[in-house]
Amino acid sequence: MFDTLTRGFRQARNRLAGLTELTAGNIDAALREVRLSLLEADVEIGVVKAFLARVKEAAVGRTLETRVKHAGEVHQVSASDHFIKICHDELEAMMTHEGDEIAWADSGPTGIMMVGLQGSGKTTSCAKLSRYLEKQGKKPLLVAADMQRPAAVEQLKVLGESLKIPVFNIPGESPVAICAAARGEAKRLGRDVIIYDTAGRLAIDEPLMQELAQIKDATKPENVFLVVDAMIGQDAVKTARGFNERLSIGGVVLTKLDGDARGGAALSIKEVTGAPVLFTGIGETTDKFEPFRADGMASRILG
Ligand code: GDP
Repeated sequence: MFDTLTRGFRQARNRLAGLTELTAGNIDAALREVRLSLLEADVEIGVVKAFLARVKEAAVGRTLETRVKHAGEVHQVSASDHFIKICHDELEAMMTHEGDEIAWADSGPTGIMMVGLQGSGKTTSCAKLSRYLEKQGKKPLLVAADMQRPAAVEQLKVLGESLKIPVFNIPGESPVAICAAARGEAKRLGRDVIIYDTAGRLAIDEPLMQELAQIKDATKPENVFLVVDAMIGQDAVKTARGFNERLSIGGVVLTKLDGDARGGAALSIKEVTGAPVLFTGIGETTDKFEPFRADGMASRILG
């Protein structure tokens, strides 16, 4: 995963090998390597520019701090270690989020509306999230309201059955009506989290957005999470921007990170939309789901 990025940072480190001090000149040479790999990894161009500028500013501004005191002695940190530390901090800042992944309701069940394009892994992620929350002692209810993809309702029912988590649907009803009725069902069943699996489409279009906006209005969920396939590169950022404009998403579930995604989505989404990646999908089965850790991701990228 993220091989292109890792290669770029490694080449930057090689450029600085043997040097003891970061200077404007040697930083530029290292940043050229990083720039190429960020672009090749489909990081959004504005994000690339902002990242490079921040690294440069921090690196030049902190040259004097490359001498650190350790056990009473002054040690010189190598230019490459210093550079990588700055990159790590900036990468982490680009991806990190404060506090809990989920905004909890003050009273009554917490709503989590899952949105995304068809094939992004939305239905699978609903099931994964329900399993994850159940392991944390919550009692989720899954709501099958993706009537766009014929098999989605059945798929969620099968997944719910395998996890022993109830799945709510009203055959023949509209997605908005199903979602609106789910709160009553959650109360009846004593469930405290409602996860709405909503319709996807191959591309963002007006009917899709209208339906999603109506569901959001009807259910007033505490959380709107966008499910994005990490493999679709620049399109992931476009998708996030489009959904965010209409639905103001609170966070992102980035799926298929077990494949050979290049990393552009992970690095760009929060910078572009303000909504951080909160969870990752790392495989097809319902256990392959983890909270996103910006620190760990930055370390993996740097290799
Ligand atoms: P939806 O149309 O957005 O509801 O997409 P699905 O949940 O049906 O997922 C589409 C395909 O992606 C299915 O074959 C899933 O098994 C697969 N998938 C979902 N999440 C992941 C993931 O994190 N990793 C991998 N490798 N495959 C995934």
